[in-house]
Amino acid sequence: MSALYFSPMLLGLCLLLAIAVAATALWLVSRPIAGPGFWMTGSWTLIGGILLFIGFMLTGSPTLNVLGNAGQLAGEAIFLLGIFRFMGRPLPWWIVPLSAGTMAAFNIHYWIYAGNSDFLMGVYSTIAGLLPLQAIWLLMRAQDDVVTRPARLLVAFSLMIYSVVTLVRGALGYLDWWQQQPYEMPYASFSYLLSYNFAIPALVMGFVGVTLMTMQRILARSQYHAHAAQQSAQRFERLLSATSSGVAIVQADRIQDANTRLEHMTGRQRKDLIGLPVSLLFHQSSQPALITSLEHGSVRQLEVQALHQQEGVFSAEISLEPLGNDDDRILELRDISHHKALEAQLQSLATRDPLTGALNRRAFDQAVQPELARCERQAHSLSLALMDLDHFKQINDQYGHSVGDQVLQSFTRCCQQHIRASDRLARFGGEEFIILLVDTDSKAAMRLMQRLRQSVHQLQPDPAEANLSVRFSAGVTQWQAGDTLDSMVRRADRALYQAKDAGRDQICCWPPAKETIDHVDP
Ligand code: GH3
Ligand code: MG
Ligand code: MG
Repeated sequence: MSALYFSPMLLGLCLLLAIAVAATALWLVSRPIAGPGFWMTGSWTLIGGILLFIGFMLTGSPTLNVLGNAGQLAGEAIFLLGIFRFMGRPLPWWIVPLSAGTMAAFNIHYWIYAGNSDFLMGVYSTIAGLLPLQAIWLLMRAQDDVVTRPARLLVAFSLMIYSVVTLVRGALGYLDWWQQQPYEMPYASFSYLLSYNFAIPALVMGFVGVTLMTMQRILARSQYHAHAAQQSAQRFERLLSATSSGVAIVQADRIQDANTRLEHMTGRQRKDLIGLPVSLLFHQSSQPALITSLEHGSVRQLEVQALHQQEGVFSAEISLEPLGNDDDRILELRDISHHKALEAQLQSLATRDPLTGALNRRAFDQAVQPELARCERQAHSLSLALMDLDHFKQINDQYGHSVGDQVLQSFTRCCQQHIRASDRLARFGGEEFIILLVDTDSKAAMRLMQRLRQSVHQLQPDPAEANLSVRFSAGVTQWQAGDTLDSMVRRADRALYQAKDAGRDQICCWPPAKETIDHVDP
């Protein structure tokens, strides 16, 4: 034992043990990189082989000798397979059974026929020295992995030293056999210790090389992922700035980040937006819906009133979606004020007369129905006045069609000034207008129409035409039980005819109320 202690054999064994432990650590930290698993398994198998061989030296058991030699070669072959695995090449599995099997066959032959141990050592060293050649070739020739090239060359160089030393050791073995040298214990043999003194340090250097190779690959991969992540972040940034929506990342009701569009839409700079409670971007009227959405965590196309810091309220639409797994939300804000204006314009086109802005006949019909129903239910008073401009054709003929248009517009404005918001004014035909007066009986309606008549007398639709005077006649009627719009219009029309017949510029009521002044001279 003391000879073993003072021999480099023990140191070599301990170095290999250190490699095995380090290879295990490398395997643990480098997963899922391919290769270190083989280096770990190979190192431990090699150590197992050496321990079995030491067992043979201590006990003389031929079985331990066979297993020890075959185990060491199998360990070396597995270690070398790791290089193929690392480089992504097909694995030459066959080197494991071939090397271990050949050695075992020679070993058994030596055991049975009591052969020469130097010759056997020569065979072992020849196999061990030739095994790395394939891997050395691959390490030096591989062009596709530029990143690991320096470390690969270190591994190739180390394996080359290992191979040369081992082959020299084999040659010395054959020489001793040839010269019939007496048997020496391995720990005292020159040729045996050649590998412990030089080949194992070369293996240590090789292991440092494979560790560097692995680290370079990990570094290259993390750089690749970092680059990919940076590119993805840049793409995300560009996407956010390219979108026509304002986008904010919201966490716990506060803005974490915002795109340029949101800056424009809110009139606030990004640095001011960050950390701002999201509710400050919206008008008071939208707060309840916003709070509900934030509590719920998501919402789609919610119409709100958003705030521009300088320009005030605008119509907007928001969507809120979870962003990933944590409580980050992505808030999208779209300016829909343009759509709203268009909607209002369409609504106006559908319901209003384009020249005067008064309701059109269809919209008037719709507006009247609920009022008629209300009268039916609650017996409210309701009146209707049908108006027709007097001698309008003459105005057109005398002053031109555009002045006629101005008359219609001025007349409409005048009517609007006299009625309440709840009353309805519509252009009923060319120069005919109709007013629905809610909560108004015929007496009050007559008074109102007289006031309107007086005001119309004062109208001057065109400053250039001082002599132009506008007059109108009107028929008034009050709602009676069972009335429809048609029946009321018929009565009002009858009253209007009366007014026209009576010389125009008159207000008449049908049925005539005794106490009502239903005829006033101009
Ligand atoms: P009366 O006192 O009996 O009501 O006579 P009038 O001339 O007012 O009635 P009439 O029905 O003979 O003529 C109505 C005129 O209104 C004919 C038409 O050219 C004119 N008119 C209808 N719509 C428009 C319009 O949009 N613009 C202008 N300028 N004229 C219109
Ligand atoms: Mg008419
Ligand atoms: Mg007329």
